[in-house]
Amino acid sequence: MRYISTRGGISPINFKDAVMMGLASDGGLLLPQFYPSISREQLESWRTLNYSELAFEVISRYVEDISPRDLKALINRSYATFTHAEVTPLVKKNGVYILELFHGVTLAFKDVALQFLGNLFEHILAERHQSLNIIGATSGDTGSAAIHGVRGKKGISIFILHPLGKTSAVQALQMTSVTDANVHNIAVRGTFDDCQDMVKELFGDLDFKEKYSLGAVNSINWARVLAQVVYYFYAWLRVTDETDAPVHFSVPTGNFGDIFAGYVAKRMGLPIDTLLLATNENNILTRFINAADYSLGKVVSTVSPSMDIQIASNFERYLFHLFAENPERVREAFAELKEHGRISCSANEMAHVRNDFCSVSVNQADTLQTIREFHAETAYLLDPHTAVGVKAALDLLPPDSSRICLATAHPAKFSETVEQSLGFAVPAPASVTELYGKPTRCEILDADIEKIREFFVTHVG
Ligand SMILES: *Cc1c(COP(=O)(O)O)cnc(C)c1O
Repeated sequence: MRYISTRGGISPINFKDAVMMGLASDGGLLLPQFYPSISREQLESWRTLNYSELAFEVISRYVEDISPRDLKALINRSYATFTHAEVTPLVKKNGVYILELFHGVTLAFKDVALQFLGNLFEHILAERHQSLNIIGATSGDTGSAAIHGVRGKKGISIFILHPLGKTSAVQALQMTSVTDANVHNIAVRGTFDDCQDMVKELFGDLDFKEKYSLGAVNSINWARVLAQVVYYFYAWLRVTDETDAPVHFSVPTGNFGDIFAGYVAKRMGLPIDTLLLATNENNILTRFINAADYSLGKVVSTVSPSMDIQIASNFERYLFHLFAENPERVREAFAELKEHGRISCSANEMAHVRNDFCSVSVNQADTLQTIREFHAETAYLLDPHTAVGVKAALDLLPPDSSRICLATAHPAKFSETVEQSLGFAVPAPASVTELYGKPTRCEILDADIEKIREFFVTHVG
């Protein structure tokens, strides 16, 4: 399998180079040249596999340059860190299936991809006798999952900037309680945007980037999407163990990474009926799907902060397919976005979009009410992101079908909001209460690029 760019500016590369490149060097996103198709017979033969075995079957179809033995070991190591034997178990509550993706170390679905990516980086760097310095900005979830994905790994250092006092308490502790020598937390006196701007500036300094082998961990790495494709297969196999009803997925969406993984699963032949894209008030993707309106608005802060995004970085991957894999049309669309703040599509293209997805935006009042009602009816706690997807599924998907809702975070990770909704305190799992006793390490710095650069240069491995 070889990988190409949505902007058409690179010659095809292999999997390992795609992982190391992250963002394509022409500014586009990397995609496989085709999606391997899985026959119904093949799919049936996967019913008896456990999660890691299934992950190997799916992932190995996209990887030709790592030996099956090494790939298997790498996958097993990644999912051994999950606290549930099934890795991503499916539970049925109130007529919907909840796909629990939060049994990894940082209690959010990002662990599924970042445990795998951390092991991949380590493997490739060792083979190439190279090292990598990851720099990233986070509002909470990605940073903590990335830190846990690479802590203690050879050849990798990680520097994560977060806005001081602006993440949830649990998110901050999940980052700062990691005191491995290769992990550097920087709490910035400023906002998430300040953090992100400074990271962009460091990457923009090409000499600096080259000299220190800078790497990124944002959601555009193909390996992250690939790891997420697996649980669509896993969930589909588990519901169809029980029933032949049509299968729908409801996906709370921010950067379009998780839902794009579902689209890939469908392209591989997984019989998914509907992919329901659920957004919060930051609803540019819903406006696009329902009203052909892809125009940038302002980001508003909501109770589901990991979805407070206007420009969904993975959306370009879908646009490439929508535009019949014509990189020129992709470049035009992004030029239009830059100049006029919107992307326009033809009626024919929009018909395709509505065939691929349906969408709804769920406001904060309905999100909080869903947490409350779901708990009242089932005694099951939803985190606010998951609640957005559950509300969408209950409203839009037929009750006599199999409605699978992706649970993207553990409710304890956003306990402030869950408690606000319920009016009483919710119990925290041991992995959360233990955080409070642990030693922490974190550098507090002003939002000043020179201070950040100086810290990096003195701490780099
Ligand atoms: C990142 C995140 C999302 C959004 O996922 P995307 O892949 O960016 O669409 C939803 N919920 C939680 C809890 C997250 O951390």
